[in-house]
Amino acid sequence: MPEPSELLIVGSGPAGLTAAIYAARANLNPLIVEGLGAGGQLMLTTDVENFPGFPDGILGPELMAKFRGQAERFGAEFVTADVDRVDLEGAPFRAWVGEREIVAESVVITTGATARMLGLPSEQRLLGHGVSTCATCDGFFFREQPIAVIGGGDSALEEAIFLTKFASSVTVVHRRDELRGSKIMQDRAFANPKISFRWNAEVKEMLGDTKVEALRLRDTVTGDTSDLAVNGAFVAIGHTPNTSLFVNQLDLDENGYITTGASSTSTSVEGVFAAGDVQDHVFRQAITAAGTGCMAAIEAERWLEARRHATALA
Ligand code: NAP
Repeated sequence: MPEPSELLIVGSGPAGLTAAIYAARANLNPLIVEGLGAGGQLMLTTDVENFPGFPDGILGPELMAKFRGQAERFGAEFVTADVDRVDLEGAPFRAWVGEREIVAESVVITTGATARMLGLPSEQRLLGHGVSTCATCDGFFFREQPIAVIGGGDSALEEAIFLTKFASSVTVVHRRDELRGSKIMQDRAFANPKISFRWNAEVKEMLGDTKVEALRLRDTVTGDTSDLAVNGAFVAIGHTPNTSLFVNQLDLDENGYITTGASSTSTSVEGVFAAGDVQDHVFRQAITAAGTGCMAAIEAERWLEARRHATALA
């Protein structure tokens, strides 16, 4: 038998858990399918120093445990699994988790985005120990230190420019001899005296036992290998929104992000809302994801209320 729920939340990063807190406090009895990678991108972060309310900083996983505990306190129910399939044709909506079928009056999608990584074992080992995917989050830790940014698109250039506020030098390591980023960002990066470029350079390995000490680079033209001494490596080769479940069910933009209304979390399907990095490729911060999670819960509550009202009048 399918299990009916007023509100299904898919995903459990800052957006999903904030939606859960608001929805639970509004008596919507939210069911959160939190995913096997529960907690989202903050689970891969060490210190978080920019989340308001924690003046001494907090570890990413600890912050997410606090979010989750707060949602549980108000009665949110969690399922630790991935959603396999959804049917969002119209309310009531359906989702399948293994053999389990969930029927929900409204849905908040907060499946986030995944930062693309180079795929090196040393990169995984040093993630949070010099390897980062977020300059806004971690730039501050590299004051007066040499760092590298890997990538040649707008994200890499934006991160490189931002990081010059802190770092002693920023080397952009790009696998080709031409940038993909926009002309204006290129001009800004070229004009910045702290930024230099390593062209045709492929990162073969990140060196360091407990923290990043250097990048081993291979010149793709000559085949030569050299080490670039840096204390930080910002991987900025793009993000992939986690939207494969929603293809052909919701409107997505050309990069695969869910499109939402202006100043709203509404999607192309009434009663389905999207919050956090799955619909925001601009800010990508825990606090902005939490903000849109709050908006989604409030919008879902209002939508449910309006529908109840309309049904009562009918
Ligand atoms: P992107 O445009 O797809 O660029 C990714 C970059 O990473 C490319 O230079 C690519 O190299 C490189 N790359 C990809 N896989 C790699 C690998 N395995 N190893 C080494 N390098 C790799 O992604 P993005 O920069 O995140 O931008 C995404 C979208 O958001 C774009 O439309 C961008 O314009 C937009 N955006 C805009 C702004 C802004 O306007 N301020 C800021 C950020 C993002 P190749 O060039 O060789 O393919």
